[in-house]
Amino acid sequence: MVGIQVAYVLASVLFILGLKGLSHPRTAVRGNLIGAIGMLIAVGATLLDRNIISFEYILIGTLVGSVIGALFALKVKMTAMPQMVALFNGFGGAASVLVAGAVLSESLVRGGDVGMQFLIATAASGLIGAVTFWGSLVAFGKLQGLITEKPVRYRGEQVVKVLVFLIALYGAFKTIQGRGNVEWYWVASGVGSVLGILLTIPIGGADMPIVIALLNAYSGMAAAATGFVLNNSILIISGALVGASGVFLTKIMCDAMNRSLPNVLFGGVGSVVETIKADDLYGGKVKATTPEEVAMILKMARRVVFVPGYGMAVARAQTPVRILTEAMEKDGIEVEFGIHPVAGRMPGHMNVLLAEENIPYDKLKEMDAINDTFAQTDVVIVIGANDVVNPLARESSGTPISGMPILNVDKARTVVVIKRSLAPGFAGIPNPLFAAENTLMLFDDAKKAMEDLVKAYREAA
Ligand code: NDP
Repeated sequence: MVGIQVAYVLASVLFILGLKGLSHPRTAVRGNLIGAIGMLIAVGATLLDRNIISFEYILIGTLVGSVIGALFALKVKMTAMPQMVALFNGFGGAASVLVAGAVLSESLVRGGDVGMQFLIATAASGLIGAVTFWGSLVAFGKLQGLITEKPVRYRGEQVVKVLVFLIALYGAFKTIQGRGNVEWYWVASGVGSVLGILLTIPIGGADMPIVIALLNAYSGMAAAATGFVLNNSILIISGALVGASGVFLTKIMCDAMNRSLPNVLFGGVGSVVETIKADDLYGGKVKATTPEEVAMILKMARRVVFVPGYGMAVARAQTPVRILTEAMEKDGIEVEFGIHPVAGRMPGHMNVLLAEENIPYDKLKEMDAINDTFAQTDVVIVIGANDVVNPLARESSGTPISGMPILNVDKARTVVVIKRSLAPGFAGIPNPLFAAENTLMLFDDAKKAMEDLVKAYREAA
């Protein structure tokens, strides 16, 4: 029907405009809304096209999906978003496997010949979808702490991965060669599932953001392939958009971590030697401070930089951060924010939290823009960040974050680190910054510490 094709074109345009909006914090909320409207039009148009599958099933599926989505959106905490994204990627992959498998079985029951495009797309849906589903489940388990988030490595790992990949590819080939052989389809999907697990378990620690982005890309590719199976243009377009943006995000994340993709997927991070002992590093060198002392130091500062991390998100400390920023600016102090690309647990995590507080975007500086300014900064307040300011990353090897560019906060005159203890961050390694000559540790929950600091700052002469 022409009406449906027009609706699909409109939805596609809205998806693209939505993605464009998402590329900047100022337009992100609007972009999200535009994308959602596009999706509503796409789903609505699909519901009207009774040729696709049963109208009732789509309606029931849409309703059930909406309820589950709404529950997730209301219940899941901001800090658990990466796990949720991992699960959603996985569900997308699983849907591709099941839909392509069902359409294949149905078309064989109906009889008649199936085309080459259909066969290749079906095999690709099954294979990529299965890798996505199981890879995402492993990523979810790691981020949720259900399985070890450390890289799991073993002897002959690369050979095993290549072999399993070749078997999965053979299954896909036999599916096509057998003009839609359903048994081989499930073999390809089953071996693809094993491949998904094998590709994800060796990745851990600080490389997790890259894996999430990559699985995002896979889920888009699987959806696009399923679009070809169903001959549904909007699924092809939206899948391609998700796949392409996932690839870009993977590239951005790799650059942020100073890693190449093959290095993340097959690299030697697992051969990390844990020679650094926290006790040796910290023994007698860590200086604790109080909100009152920090307030006095801030009163004398001309330039202050906040470096937020995962702990700020957990504590939801962004409101007192904004209040202190405003108070300091009133006193003529220049305040900026240094944002590391992998701070927190999802890309853009810190930007979202600070934007919620209406902190002007021009104060949020990316790593490359702010790193040279630390030497002229009087005070850096590191709030709940750890790995992204860990000088051990400067070592070329030996730690899970070796080679990752960091925010050079140790170059500032005084560094105040707000966290509850000397516990390590996501990468699980100690941080020499905490024992540095110019570092003061303010041990407390980030929100409580910031509220105390606001009070002490106001009371300081
Ligand atoms: P880290 O995970 O390195 O450190 C966070 C610190 O916050 C901890 O050391 C913890 O110390 C502290 N903290 C936790 N809760 C609180 C609280 N309530 N109040 C105060 N402090 C608290 O965070 P970073 O942001 O520095 O680095 C992000 C890490 O996560 C990187 O390794 C990155 O690769 C990884 N990652 C990033 C993703 C992304 O897309 N951004 C996705 C997945 C992983 P303590 O317990 O002592 O308080």
